[in-house]
Amino acid sequence: MKLIDNIADMKAYSDAKRSNGAKISFVPTMGALHDGHLQLVKNAANIADICVVSIFVNPAQFGPSEDFGKYPRDLDRDKNLLKELGVDAIFFPKLEDMYGDGFQTYVEVEEIQKPLCGKFRPGHFRGVATVVLKLFNIVKPHYAVFGEKDYQQLQVIRRMVSDLNVDVEVISHPIVRERSGLAMSSRNEYLKSDKREEASSISDALFNVKRQFDSGVKEKDSLLDTAYSILNEVGINEIEYLEIVDGQNLTEKKSAGPGDVVAIAARLGGTRLIDNMRL
Ligand code: AMP
Repeated sequence: MKLIDNIADMKAYSDAKRSNGAKISFVPTMGALHDGHLQLVKNAANIADICVVSIFVNPAQFGPSEDFGKYPRDLDRDKNLLKELGVDAIFFPKLEDMYGDGFQTYVEVEEIQKPLCGKFRPGHFRGVATVVLKLFNIVKPHYAVFGEKDYQQLQVIRRMVSDLNVDVEVISHPIVRERSGLAMSSRNEYLKSDKREEASSISDALFNVKRQFDSGVKEKDSLLDTAYSILNEVGINEIEYLEIVDGQNLTEKKSAGPGDVVAIAARLGGTRLIDNMRL
């Protein structure tokens, strides 16, 4: 497994593989890998000759009062996990190389970034789109795999790739959950064990919405009422949003239809968790 920490070497590695006719798949991550990441990586490794994973905690997608400084980092552990999966190269660029002096160019996916997380994390998706386009230009993959866990991010990337004619095929991977239903996340590490149990009510609430939808309930207010009760029962009151949105452009729906998505962001003891489910 190649360990690459600078941009020129990463470009040269990909250029060499491409000129040999190899197809490259790519999984961008912020590290602190869990089984959700690893399943994306397995998927990526299966669809191409060469699989590259990046590990970069991207400051541009964190707000000034967010957890950039304390975001979990364990590069050695991540390297070992990826080696076991047979990943061909890990790219872990330095902050100062990604955002050098004078950096001033950003990508804005104007509409899709506005609802849901966009309302609560101003600038977040601009940071995501910018770093992903930079990584695409450096790693030059044929395929890039993103998790449906970050559903709005996935739609932002799809839109950017389409609007800017980026030559990368975006592939989505279903949400990987713990046994309790809780969507796996690097931020789950912040949760103490009692909070982890409470956190599983977030997915309980979404599964409840899906069951009701499948049994014929379509009105948003009726669908979300029980979800709010499930959350309130375990003391999850800090709900940033709980919405039903169109699966592609993320506009809010009053009446749900197939392909719509129920999405939530909630805070538990200071930890911000997101989850979603397709109806
Ligand atoms: P992150 O390291 O949080 O930036 O995530 C890197 C990639 O892994 C993103 O495409 C995420 O959507 C994806 N991912 C993170 N957690 C999960 C999960 N539980 N299930 C599926 N994909 C995930």
